[in-house]
Amino acid sequence: MTVAEFIERDTLFVGGRNTTPATSATITVRSASTEQTIGHVAAAAEADVDAAVAAARAAFCDPNGWAAWEPSRRADALTALASVIGGHGEEFTTLVSAQNGMPISTARQIEGGFPGALLSYYGALVREQPPEEYRRGIFVDGVVIRREPIGVVAAIVPWNYPQTLLFTKLAPALAAGCSVVVKPSPETVLDSFLLGDILEQHEILPPGVVNFVPGGREIGAYLVKHPDIDKVAFTGSTAAGRSIGEVCGRLLRPVTLELGGKSAAILLDDADLAAITSDLFGATMMNNGQSCFISSRVLAPRRQYQKVVDALTDMASSAVVGDALDDKTMIGPMVSEAHRERVESYIRKGEAEGARVTTGGGRGGHDRGWFVEPTIFADTNNQMSIAREEIFGPVVTVIPYDDINDAVALANDSEYGLAGTVWTRDKDRALDIARRVQTGTFGVNTYVPDPVAPFGGVKSSGIGRELGPEGLASYQQPKSIYVP
Ligand code: NAD
Repeated sequence: MTVAEFIERDTLFVGGRNTTPATSATITVRSASTEQTIGHVAAAAEADVDAAVAAARAAFCDPNGWAAWEPSRRADALTALASVIGGHGEEFTTLVSAQNGMPISTARQIEGGFPGALLSYYGALVREQPPEEYRRGIFVDGVVIRREPIGVVAAIVPWNYPQTLLFTKLAPALAAGCSVVVKPSPETVLDSFLLGDILEQHEILPPGVVNFVPGGREIGAYLVKHPDIDKVAFTGSTAAGRSIGEVCGRLLRPVTLELGGKSAAILLDDADLAAITSDLFGATMMNNGQSCFISSRVLAPRRQYQKVVDALTDMASSAVVGDALDDKTMIGPMVSEAHRERVESYIRKGEAEGARVTTGGGRGGHDRGWFVEPTIFADTNNQMSIAREEIFGPVVTVIPYDDINDAVALANDSEYGLAGTVWTRDKDRALDIARRVQTGTFGVNTYVPDPVAPFGGVKSSGIGRELGPEGLASYQQPKSIYVP
């Protein structure tokens, strides 16, 4: 399969229609698998951000607008949007896969499926939720508690799951009645143009409720500190999250930060290595390792260390590496040349620190596309940089542990706390370990974030939660009205 058409666009979706941008600045997008240019689109300047925020504010303040609609009317619109977007699932899938190298089989499940599921889920949730609740008071007869939309939201999205991570923000924000200004990543900007076209064509949402300002980090930083933004929802690196958190702290602006991770897979001594290989591959290398939640450290019982290293080595060396658009591909390329350089620099660092590559480490003979072979490191310890820092590539570090307490201590000995997994036939032991690992999410014999459950991190992995009812609440402002 190939990308259907070269995408060329000189307009920005602002205020419900494609508008002429303030400058002639552009973004060029290349295919991660072929390095060919696959799109050339307009980039937003500060004046475009001003226009987008103004459009979002006007939409939000319209007394008969989206924020004032009955929740059931908004829910109907979200359901309709889910159906329209679902009809374009394969286009989104192909575009994302071509841009960031996500294997198309993964993209089909996630980028093609999650956005519609999130719109339907949040539509149903807000339909059920009464907008006002009455509580009997202690000092007054009663209190009316209203759930009001928080206002104009800046949604800043990374390149690794561009549609899914956009909709983890957009779906609950829209359900709550907010307006949104989206800043996609320059690496994966084409799918946001497709979404803008769909929104313009179907007019399901009133003008200005969703706006796009594609651009780099400078445009993101300008949006974050814009005086007319009420909340920032950010997914990306911990370094960028810290800087956004500082700005929002100074402005007293609510912010959700979904950041990096260095999670651990704890393999117990009863794990059936042959049976779990496929799930373990997903949990450790999903999307070429370009996933915040992957268990990039595998903790193995010391007595079985060699057996685990051998199983992981087999798993990695048998993974099909190739063009992301090929259905057989299990590991595609890195998103960009710069990112491949970063991943390769960690492989060199690991070797320099004394760890041993048991498979991978190279480019697998690919002279086009930003490929890194799936790589396993043995003879490691938890102090090495390959065990402490987020590599964001198909690189797994296997670390031995002595007993369960040691395994839990190693899992917790990390700056991060986003995810983690445990692999065993004993569910009770698994749940006991799940309760002891300091992390926002955790998987037993699998790792699949579910829309109904809050997702987010502790420590340097972030602040706040997306998904679940908690995700909706983060776009609502409670107001108490005391009634004598
Ligand atoms: P990044 O931080 O470089 O960029 C993320 C987005 O923020 C991009 O749109 C970028 O243009 C923008 N940006 C960067 N600096 C900014 C600033 N100072 N102000 C405003 N906007 C800014 O991250 P990336 O390389 O695109 O994505 C990879 C990172 O994202 C990894 O660290 C990964 O762990 C993290 N991530 C976290 C989650 C999660 O849910 N916790 C999910 C996916 C990715």
